[in-house]
Amino acid sequence: MGGTKALAALINSNKGIIARKKVATGTGKDAAEYLKSLSGIIKDIVKEYKLKDEQIAAVCVGVAGSVNPHSGVITFSPNLGLKDFNIKEALGELIPYPVLIENDVNLGALGVKYYGLGKNARDMLAVFVGTGIGAGFIFDGKLFRGANFAAGEIGHIKVEEGGPLCGCGNHGCFEAVASRTAIDREIKKELKKGEKSILKEFAASDKQIKSKVLANAVKKNDKLATKHLTRACKTIGNVLADITNLLNLDLIVLGGGVIEALDKFMMPIIKESFYKNALPTSSKGLKILATKLGDDAALYGGIPLAEEFLNIKV
Ligand SMILES: [Zn+2]
Repeated sequence: MGGTKALAALINSNKGIIARKKVATGTGKDAAEYLKSLSGIIKDIVKEYKLKDEQIAAVCVGVAGSVNPHSGVITFSPNLGLKDFNIKEALGELIPYPVLIENDVNLGALGVKYYGLGKNARDMLAVFVGTGIGAGFIFDGKLFRGANFAAGEIGHIKVEEGGPLCGCGNHGCFEAVASRTAIDREIKKELKKGEKSILKEFAASDKQIKSKVLANAVKKNDKLATKHLTRACKTIGNVLADITNLLNLDLIVLGGGVIEALDKFMMPIIKESFYKNALPTSSKGLKILATKLGDDAALYGGIPLAEEFLNIKV
């Protein structure tokens, strides 16, 4: 579930993604409208592939925000404009299948663990860098959710005392310094001051500079883009080193638009600052890799989610 669109896939562990569909959902401010488009896309797929109701084991919904996967309540999703909303019940009234929910980043981590680079990992962190920075933890092969199902909010680790304002209201959070939004903000700030760059058209633009545009700028040795991306990478490496010193993980997987578009540039810098700051005993044997699963990571995460909550094989 996104704020303005939903992406759906028909999926099982045998064939992977069998079909996918995208639908515009409106703003997400009207829950009834939103659910109608969501149930519509599900019914369309079932109809198109001539599936029987009993062939659908579950509908797994990924939500940007905090959720309770047991009760099916979206506790708070600013993107969707939903608060304390039981989507399991509400969507369950519109479709004849069990509805499961999970935070979208957690779903992504599950996807990476079971269908991506994490297959052989026991203790893994999946980090997604985009508009914000989120992470999902796998401990001992299982998703770690925390007491209030809010584990993995690494985007709000404080990295800069008195730093830039974060969406959460605090200053100097990791994502306020190293997300794509932060890179975009810093580049534009310097463009406004007259700094030379091939990105100069963005100086007065409300649009975020896309990852592909950043990648192109780096390819052309644009100093401004290179400077701010390098800064973000160093911060990412430092935070991942802190987490590794704390948890002694065996795998860190990085994903999200900016990493996927710029992995060749970003990963070496991230790794350099990581190994400079991680303790040798904590980082020994650890792998840091970039996923190529993209949005599909969260889609794949639906399979282990259904298997966990319904105790079935999908
Ligand atoms: Zn924050």
